[in-house]
Amino acid sequence: MNYILELIDLHVEVEGKEILKGINLQIPYGEIHAIMGPNGSGKSTLSYTLLGHPKYIVTKGDIKFEGESILSLSTDKRAKKGIFLSLQYPTQIPGVTTMNFLRNVIKSFYGDLPIRELKEKINDAFDKLQMKKDFLGRYVNDGFSGGEKKRHEIVQMRLIQPKFAILDEIDSGLDIDALKIIAENIQEMKSPERSMILITHYQRLLNYIEIDKVHIFMDGRIQLSGGKELAQELEQKGYEQILSLAK
Ligand code: ADP
Ligand code: MG
Repeated sequence: MNYILELIDLHVEVEGKEILKGINLQIPYGEIHAIMGPNGSGKSTLSYTLLGHPKYIVTKGDIKFEGESILSLSTDKRAKKGIFLSLQYPTQIPGVTTMNFLRNVIKSFYGDLPIRELKEKINDAFDKLQMKKDFLGRYVNDGFSGGEKKRHEIVQMRLIQPKFAILDEIDSGLDIDALKIIAENIQEMKSPERSMILITHYQRLLNYIEIDKVHIFMDGRIQLSGGKELAQELEQKGYEQILSLAK
């Protein structure tokens, strides 16, 4: 089997404390996997580690992307390889307009484009996320609502067209309409060349998306994996019960 991402016995320490305690996960090309787990179980730690945040130290194991270890690569090299992370809490960049920011995002991946093509790409992504163009003149995420920040993340994913995306709680703080728009965009971007990890607390995001696998995360490990039905079962029974049933 040809995997786009492989985590092999991954152990990660933060501030001297072991948070990830041996993650094994294989994601084939074209698949979307959901990771669900209680607060503090290490889900965001996993996303930071995949992008190489310097505070998150891999003490054992490996991360292979398209067959090669990426542990020695810096964050920007990983991004250039096609790995995209949408943070649980997107950061504000006061002083940088959204237009300038997105122009630089496109430039760093695709080089200089004629201004008309650039605008077309950005307009198209904004339309798909039903975001008003006024945002282009505002500073990045500055005063954006929770839902607007999350839509802006998916705008970036549309512009970059990454091979692999990790979306950390992309559905938190969204109203039903925004949730639906975001989910539809994610589903539309599903393709045989692209895989994704969706970190979520709620089964409702998964209603709109063809999920290939669900993994339940607890205490720094994947405790249980299954199909989409596992998310529904989890919603009904809660973590403790589902994990005790699995034992
Ligand atoms: P989740 O996303 O599943 O809610 P996190 O990965 O954010 O969980 O956190 C897992 C554990 O790691 C928590 O106990 C958290 O306090 C700790 N942790 C994560 N990042 C840091 C950090 N930068 N500094 C100190 N502790 C951290
Ligand atoms: Mg988190």
